[in-house]
Amino acid sequence: MGESNKDFFQEGRKEDWRVNLRESLKSKDRTSIERAEMPVLAPEDRNSINCEVNMGLSPEQALIEAKRCLDCLNPTCIEGCPIGINIPGFIKNIESGDFLKAASTLKETNVLPAVCGRVCPQEIQCEASCFYTKKLNKKPVAIGYLERFAADYERENGINGKIVPEIRNTGIKVGIIGSGPAGLAAAGDLAKYGYKVTIFEALHQIGGVLRYGIPEFRLPNRIVDVEIENLKKLGVTFIKNFVIGKTAEIDDLRNEGYKAFFIGSGAGLPRFMNIPGENLIGIYSSNEYLTRVNLMNAADPDYDTPIHIGRRVAVIGGGNTAMDSVRTAKRLGAEKAIILYRRSMEEMPARKEEVEHAIEEGIEFRCLENPVRYIDNGKGRVAQVIVQKMRAGEPDESGRRKAVPVEGSEYALDVDQVIVSIGVSPNPLISRQMPDLNVTRSSTLVINSETMQTSVPDIFAGGDIVRGGATVILAMGDGRKAAAGIHQYLQNQ
Ligand code: FAD
Ligand code: SF4
Repeated sequence: MGESNKDFFQEGRKEDWRVNLRESLKSKDRTSIERAEMPVLAPEDRNSINCEVNMGLSPEQALIEAKRCLDCLNPTCIEGCPIGINIPGFIKNIESGDFLKAASTLKETNVLPAVCGRVCPQEIQCEASCFYTKKLNKKPVAIGYLERFAADYERENGINGKIVPEIRNTGIKVGIIGSGPAGLAAAGDLAKYGYKVTIFEALHQIGGVLRYGIPEFRLPNRIVDVEIENLKKLGVTFIKNFVIGKTAEIDDLRNEGYKAFFIGSGAGLPRFMNIPGENLIGIYSSNEYLTRVNLMNAADPDYDTPIHIGRRVAVIGGGNTAMDSVRTAKRLGAEKAIILYRRSMEEMPARKEEVEHAIEEGIEFRCLENPVRYIDNGKGRVAQVIVQKMRAGEPDESGRRKAVPVEGSEYALDVDQVIVSIGVSPNPLISRQMPDLNVTRSSTLVINSETMQTSVPDIFAGGDIVRGGATVILAMGDGRKAAAGIHQYLQNQ
C-alpha cells in the first residue's frame, strides 16, 4: 500500500469514504465490475534491485475488487488454495470495510499472508478455481492482490504482532533445521503449542529462499523481518551460522535435551547440465548468483564479496528462479539479458506476471533454444555459448511438449556471464549422516504424508527437502502439518 493511501485512515475520514463507496456500489451487478489492475512502477523506474515493482492496491481498489466476490455457496477457490484459506470470509471482511478483520481471518490459516499475496502462483491455484474463471469465463477475483492488501494494511497500521497470545510454556525443547517458510511456519505453531523452539540456520540471515533467493524487487526484506520479529515475540530462538551435520549433529542436540526435530532444510543444491565448458569462469548457478547479490552485497564494489557484473548475460531456464536471475542481471547493468529456454513460451513454469514484467523490462526471450557447450575466451572465462534450436515434440509425462533438438541448427551467442537455473535438489548433508533416515532416489526425505514424520520417529520434515523445488505456500503448509504431527508425537511420549 503506497504512502498516499494512508490519508484514508486519518481519523474523521475513516468511515465516510468506505460507507460512501459501499453505498455507491450497492446497486452494481458484481459480475460487471472490472478486475482491479495492480499499480506497478514504470519499467524505466525499475532499475534498482531494491524497488518493489508491484505497489499494492489502494483501499478503494480493494473494496471494489472485494465486491466482485460472489460468496459462492460452494467456494471452489478454497479447494485451489493448498492450505484452504477461508477466501470468501476474508474478502467479505474487506468488502464490509473491516480490513483488520480480513487480516486476522487470513492468519487463522496462513502465517505469512503478505508473502503469499506477493509470490503465490495464484493463477494456477486459488484464482484458477474461482467461479469467474471456471464458469463465467471472466477474469478471476484478484485473491492474491486482496490477500497482500489486508496483510500490508495490518502491518502498516502498526497492529501486526502487538497482540502476543498467552502461551503455556511446557519447557519441552524442539529443534528446527532451516529458517525458510517451512521452518518458520512450523516454529510459529510449535511455539503456540507451548514448546521451547530453536531454529538452527546455516546462513548468517534468517528466511531461507525468502531472503537469499527471491529478490527485494519482488519480496522486500522488511516483510520477512516482521514475521521473524513476531516469532521472536512468541519465544522462538534463532541460532545463525549453525550447520546441522557440520557445526553439530542431531545426536548432539538430542544430548542437549531436544525431544523432537523438524527438518526444513530446503533444496539448495543446484543442478547443472554437465555440458562441455560448464566450469569456465563467469558461469554461475542461480543459487550462487542470487545469494551473492541478495545476502552478500556483491553488487556493491566496496564489499569483499564482489560479483562480476555481466554485460551480456544468458540465463538458462524458464522458472521463477530464472526470471529473478535475469531481472537482477538487468538491474545490475547488463546491456543484454537473455533467457534461453528449451521449451516454448507457453510452457514456462515461471509465474505469468514475472514473465510479463521481464518482457516490459527488456529481457530477451529465446525459447525453444538450448545450450550445448561453452567456449573459452582463451583465459578460462566464458566468451560464447553454443546454442541449439529445438522444436516442440509430443507431450511428456508432465503434459508439456518435449523439446526435440533440430539437427544442424547450432549458432554461437556472445556472452560474458551465464546463470544456470535448471532446478535444484536437496543437500544430502544431513541424510548422509543418518542412515536410518529414508530418502528417495532424488535425495528427498520420505515422510508419512499425514503427520510429516520421517522414518526416524523424533524427526519430521517438510518443504523442499520433501518435495524437491516447490512453492512457498506448500512449504508452509507442510511446516504447519508437521507441527501438529510433532505435538501429537510428544503428547504420546
Ligand atoms: P528454503 O526456503 O530453501 O529454506 C531452507 C533453509 O534451510 C535455508 O535457509 C538453508 O540455509 C537452511 N539449511 C539448509 N541446510 C541446513 C543445515 N544443514 N543446517 C541448518 N540450516 C540449513 N515459490 C513461490 O511460491 N513463488 C515464487 O515466486 C517463488 N520464487 C522463487 C524464486 C527463487 C529464486 C527460488 C530459489 C525459489 C522460489 N520459489 C518460489 C520456491 C520457494 O521459495 C521454495 O519452494 C520455498 O522457499 C521452500 O521453503 P523451505 O522452507 O522448504 O526451504
Ligand atoms: Fe491463493 Fe496462495 Fe493465498 Fe492460498 S495462500 S489464497 S493459493 S494466494
